[in-house]
Amino acid sequence: MNDVHGREINYLRISVTQACNLRCSYCVPARDSTKPHCENPLSFGEITRLVKIFSGAGIKKVRVTGGEPLVRKGVPGFIRDLKSLHGIEEVALSTNGVLLSGLLDELKGSGLDKINVSLDSLRRERVREISGSDVLPDVMGAVERIMAGNLFQLKLNVVLIKGFNDDEILDFARLAFLHPLEVRFIEMMPTAQNRLWDGKKPLTGAEAKSVIEQEFRLSPLFDPGRFAGPAKVYATADGKGRLGFISPMSGSFCDGCNRLRLTADGRIRHCLFSDAEVDLRPGFFTNEPDEWFLKRFVAALAQKPSAHNLTNTSAPPCSRPMSAIGG
Ligand code: SAM
Repeated sequence: MNDVHGREINYLRISVTQACNLRCSYCVPARDSTKPHCENPLSFGEITRLVKIFSGAGIKKVRVTGGEPLVRKGVPGFIRDLKSLHGIEEVALSTNGVLLSGLLDELKGSGLDKINVSLDSLRRERVREISGSDVLPDVMGAVERIMAGNLFQLKLNVVLIKGFNDDEILDFARLAFLHPLEVRFIEMMPTAQNRLWDGKKPLTGAEAKSVIEQEFRLSPLFDPGRFAGPAKVYATADGKGRLGFISPMSGSFCDGCNRLRLTADGRIRHCLFSDAEVDLRPGFFTNEPDEWFLKRFVAALAQKPSAHNLTNTSAPPCSRPMSAIGG
């Protein structure tokens, strides 16, 4: 289904919990507990029903995210149910990788297609500093098992942080040269809870790319995949993997936006950075038919703005933390 700006919306990001087991300084509030913010998230059965309804309106890809999705029990079974839905062509997972190793076999069995692992540094002490926990060995253990067993298509998401990980851009690029994975550099965004945001210009994807081009020849991939969205993706000449740049701050990010979001507490968000939401939860309380939910889905789509307002410094930041929306 196309939105009013002519973009095909075929991708739904589903947050299954607002809880996270890490406290990354640019993402979650410092003193937040790991307790879920919403005590009553939609059940997996309710979400599966919604995805089935929305697939009739053109949703073909879903991503399971959070919070940290793997802190919620039962994610592999939920993914298996999503995969069985007619019209759902791809199911992906975004995770910080901390609990991933122990779930890899079950996730493989569920039919999951792709995994994105968030990792902002390849140095153990830095990961501890940014996330509040000493988790690099666990995360890398899972990443290595995925690569060794060729289990899933794998992306590493790296948030670019000036003065923190800009000296690791080439290390990440080398990883993508040597291994069949995609490293994606994401410009840091000024959310309300971002304790690293200093009001200055963030490190941009273009800056990261020019660092990488000192060592690697990059060629753009003009067809990075059917559901690729706003990333600009490049192959490294003679390398095994790819490099992607997601530039919400400096680039024309929104032109390629193909997604809606479903929050853990049952609201559809049409833009990561708009507080406008359509609440679906009442429909479960009053046992509404599928058409009720579909009508609200279409209403959310109709409100989708042509662009976010992140670079407008006078606009208020969105009130929910990124961890509560699903990133
Ligand atoms: N816990 C999962 C994970 O780590 O991938 C899923 C949720 S997390 C909110 C999704 C993504 O959002 C992560 O890659 C994270 O680095 C990114 N993110 C969070 N806050 C951000 C910010 N202020 N700017 C850019 N990316 C951000």
